[in-house]
Formats: sequence, structure tokens, C-alpha cells
Amino acid sequence: MIREFSEPPAAANVFDPLELDYLWFQDGNIVLSAVDAATARPVLFRVHMSSLASRSRVFNSMLSLPQGEDDEQTEVHEGSPLVRLPDSAEDVEALLRAIYDPYALFRRSPRSDTPLRVQKALHMASKYMMDDLCKRLISVVEQEWPLRLKDMELRDGILDDIIAKYGAYSSTEWPEQLIPEPASAIALAERYNIPSILPAAYYNLLRCNPNESWELTLRKVCSAGDTRFLVTGRGGKPARWECLSAASFLKLLQVQNFVESAQHKYFSFSLPQKIPGCLSLSQSRSCFHTWMRILDNSHRIPVHIHARDIFGQLRDLEVRMLNANMCYNCYPKYTDEIQRVKVRVWEGLEEICCL
Ligand SMILES: [Zn+2]
Repeated sequence: MIREFSEPPAAANVFDPLELDYLWFQDGNIVLSAVDAATARPVLFRVHMSSLASRSRVFNSMLSLPQGEDDEQTEVHEGSPLVRLPDSAEDVEALLRAIYDPYALFRRSPRSDTPLRVQKALHMASKYMMDDLCKRLISVVEQEWPLRLKDMELRDGILDDIIAKYGAYSSTEWPEQLIPEPASAIALAERYNIPSILPAAYYNLLRCNPNESWELTLRKVCSAGDTRFLVTGRGGKPARWECLSAASFLKLLQVQNFVESAQHKYFSFSLPQKIPGCLSLSQSRSCFHTWMRILDNSHRIPVHIHARDIFGQLRDLEVRMLNANMCYNCYPKYTDEIQRVKVRVWEGLEEICCL
């Protein structure tokens, strides 16, 4: 894909650039130059001034300055003004690809690597004040994430169902219906201010296995057909732990502390309430007795405690209630109470994660 100038360099300081075929437009009217970080060689891109100026306040100001051919200050390459950028060629290429071929970024990968793929373009779009492109790149990340509690519950419910049916989720790919790899998403979100994905991302990371690296798992998947992503009711999902800052690890500990406290608070104190007006005929089988029995069962299941999954615990409670034969006075009130607890926990997560 790289078209190289035919003349070899006569000396180390000779301008001996590369041109990228797919970012070299014959009708382009500006040439951008940036240095390849690995080879220290200039790379040229011939693009359209209007494409840059209409998107970027920085380019708009820069390119609106007079640039006549007779201006001795203006460098020219193949008839077009040449602008040397201080950025790496990789970063410039990422930005231009996001402008000229944005749909490539929207294609999701079974590697769950969207934050890594949009990072360079987002850095450049932010630096050159391309507000609309920033929003579009952020939306690429946001569309992969559950932004509301009910969306997160739906995604986690899919995994619950698979694990309940087969004992574990096992695959050589990470499918798009499951929650993506969270650590790289958190790193991107905290750097470029995308708070909307953080509650679900931190909650998901809390249940990842700190001994399992996402990239190492992927490498094993690629090199050995029998090694897979493996998630059970006790967790096991790997993460790109290396992406996280010290501040993110601290926030993860705060989320862990919050979830553990919420499990104790709601299961021990808030939820065990008697609903007035029970219509059950038998005192020994009143809805309150039934409620306390299933509440106790859901609270004591070791897998919930180990997985720190209070939403999973509450979903389990809802399933148990379906089979509990409660009266029509008590059942909806206990169900509403479960929903209220879920909302309070989600709001608590938002408070910690979106600060
Ligand atoms: Zn009742």
C-alpha cells in the first residue's frame, strides 16, 4: 500500500518521503508531512484543504493564512502547499482514516479492541479541535456499552443464561452482545471525558480476573485452537489490566467497597421488610416468611459473594420470587423494592465512577 519515491536518498538529510496510496488523492490540494516514529522517515499525505478546514478550527485558522506560490515561506510538493506537522505519521494517518474511511472504525472486532483502535484518531481530533469528529469517535465507543442499568442487565442476563445452561461461557471470540473488555474502555473514557460508559465498565471490571490478561488470552486463542475465553459464575473474564492508571485502580477499589457494603446493607437491613396487608391465608406460609427464606438463600450463595455481583444477586431473587406463590398484594411490592435497590446501587456507581 505504500508508494515509495523512486530516487534513493543521497544523504541522510535528503527529503525522502513515503506516500500512502490510500491517503494520496490526485485532486488533493494540500500535502501533510509527518515523521514515522519507527523509521524517522517523513510520510506524506495529499488531502483536501476543505476536509481539514471544515472540521477543525486549528486547520481552518492555519490554512486561511495567505499561501501564494511566490511566498518564499511556503513549501510546495508536487504543486501543492506542504505543511509539516509535529505529530507522528501514525497519528496523522489515524486522523485522516477517521475522516476519509470512518466506517472501518464502526466495524466491531471479536478482539474487543475498539478503544485501542479509536485512541489515536481521538487524540488528534481533540488536539486539532475537531469537535464533530470527537463526538463521532466517542459515539463509536458508547454504542458498544450499556449506558443504562436496564441495558447492562440485559447483557449480563445473556451471560447468566449461557452459564446456567452450559456451566460456563467458552469461546475463541468475544461476541458483541456481551459487555466488551472494560479496562481499555475505562482508560480511554477517563482520558477523553466519556463518563457515560464508566458505571458499567467499572462494575464489569470488578468481576474480571486479575490473573488473566486479555492480550495473553487472545494470543493463546490465536496460537492454540483449544484455548478460549472462559467465564463461569465465579467470573474469569480477562482484562487489559495494563491500561489502567493508579487513579483507576483506586476507583476500582472504591467500587468494590461500595458494592460489598451495598450487599450487606440491602440484604441485611433494607430488603427484609414485612409488607402490610398480606392476603396469604396461612400464617406459617405468609409472604413475609417466603420472602425471608428466598432472601436468605440468595444472600448466602457463595458465587454471588465471590463475584461481587449485587445486580446478579437481585436478578436471582426475582427469579426465585416467580416460583414462590406470593399473594397479589405482596408480590408487586417486593418486586418494586428489588427494582428500587437496583436503581440506588446504580446511582451509587454513577456517583463514584463519574466524578
Ligand atoms: Zn402476601
